[in-house]
Amino acid sequence: MKILSGLNLNEIEEITDSLQASKFRARQIHNWIYLKSVKTIDEMTDLSVKFREELKQIATVTDTKIKVKQESSDGTLKYLLEFPDGECVETVLMRFDNRANLTACVSSQVGCAVNCSFCATGKRGFIRNLTCKEIIEQVLTIQRDTGLKVTNVVFMGQGEPLLNLDNVLKAMEIFNDNFQIGARRLTVSTSGIISGIEKLAEIDMQSTLAISLHAPNHEIRAKLMQIENKYPMTELKKALKKYIEKTNRRITIEYLLIKDLNDTIDSAKQLVEYLKDIKCNINLIPYNPTEKNDYQKPSGNSIMRFKSLLEQSGKKVTVRLERGADIDAACGQLKGKVE
Ligand code: SF4
Repeated sequence: MKILSGLNLNEIEEITDSLQASKFRARQIHNWIYLKSVKTIDEMTDLSVKFREELKQIATVTDTKIKVKQESSDGTLKYLLEFPDGECVETVLMRFDNRANLTACVSSQVGCAVNCSFCATGKRGFIRNLTCKEIIEQVLTIQRDTGLKVTNVVFMGQGEPLLNLDNVLKAMEIFNDNFQIGARRLTVSTSGIISGIEKLAEIDMQSTLAISLHAPNHEIRAKLMQIENKYPMTELKKALKKYIEKTNRRITIEYLLIKDLNDTIDSAKQLVEYLKDIKCNINLIPYNPTEKNDYQKPSGNSIMRFKSLLEQSGKKVTVRLERGADIDAACGQLKGKVE
C-alpha cells in the first residue's frame, strides 16, 4: 500500500499513471494532501467516486497514528506520534494569541545521541533517524487534526537535526515547495555540529539557523552539553562567522538560563564578549525544572538583569514565553511519561 503523505508531485504522478489517470489528477491529490490536509481518500471530492475506489485499492493517506494528544490552557498542542515500526516522537503546535503564526516544533530523530544534561530525550540515547516522510508527517498530522495551516516550522523537537541533515534538508524543500512555507519561516536548531554548519554555509541556506549555546564559556558548556568536548565554543565561533559571511543571515543564539549556573553578571559579560562580532539575536529561555536534576529556575530579577546586560551590547534579546506549562511540553517529557 502506498502512503500519499510525504510524496512529491512526480511520485504521485507515478501512482496516477499506474491507474491510467491524467497528470491533473496527481495535482488534485497533491493539493488535497498538502493544502487541504484530508484524512482519507474519500474526502478528495473533486475526484470521481470510481477513481477514488481505484486509488483506495493501492494507496492510503497516512500510516502515522496519534498515540497521545495533550492541550495546554494557552492553546499549545503536544502530540506523541507513532510510526508503523512502533517508534514514537513528539511534535508540538504553538499558537500565539496576538499573532497569526502557527508554529510546528518537529523532531528529526527518535532519541538523540548528543545527551545534553538538561534534556529528557538525550537521557534515553539515540534510536534512529527519521525519514524525510516521517518529518513531513508531523506537520501533516497537525494540519489534519486541527484543520489549521501551519505557517512556521522549527526543528527543535527531539534529535539533533544536523546529524540527520540529508533528510532534514529534503523535508525543508518539501515544506517550501508543497506546503508553501517560505524559507524564512523555517528554523533549524543545532547543539553546534560544526560539520553540519559548514554544509549549511556551503548550500547558502536562507532559513534561520539557531544555535543552542546555553553557556558563556567552555567549562559551563561542557557541564551542560557533552558536545562541547567534541566541538568547542572557540571552533564553533569560527564556523558561525564563516556561515554568516557566506549566507549574510543573522543567526539566533538560544540560551537556557539556569539559576546560579549561567545567569550571573559575570556570565552575561562573558557572553557579550563571545558574541561581540557575531551577527545574531539572542533568545533567553528561563529553565523550567521538569527533570530530576540539580538545575533550578532563575528568578525574574536575574532574567531581567541578564537581558539588560546583553541589550547594552546592542543585541536584540527576547525572553521566550513559557508555552504549555501545564502539559509535558519540554522535549522528551511526554514520551518519557508514556514509556
Ligand atoms: S537538547 Fe536537543 S541535542 Fe541536546 S540531547 Fe536533547 S534533543 Fe539532543
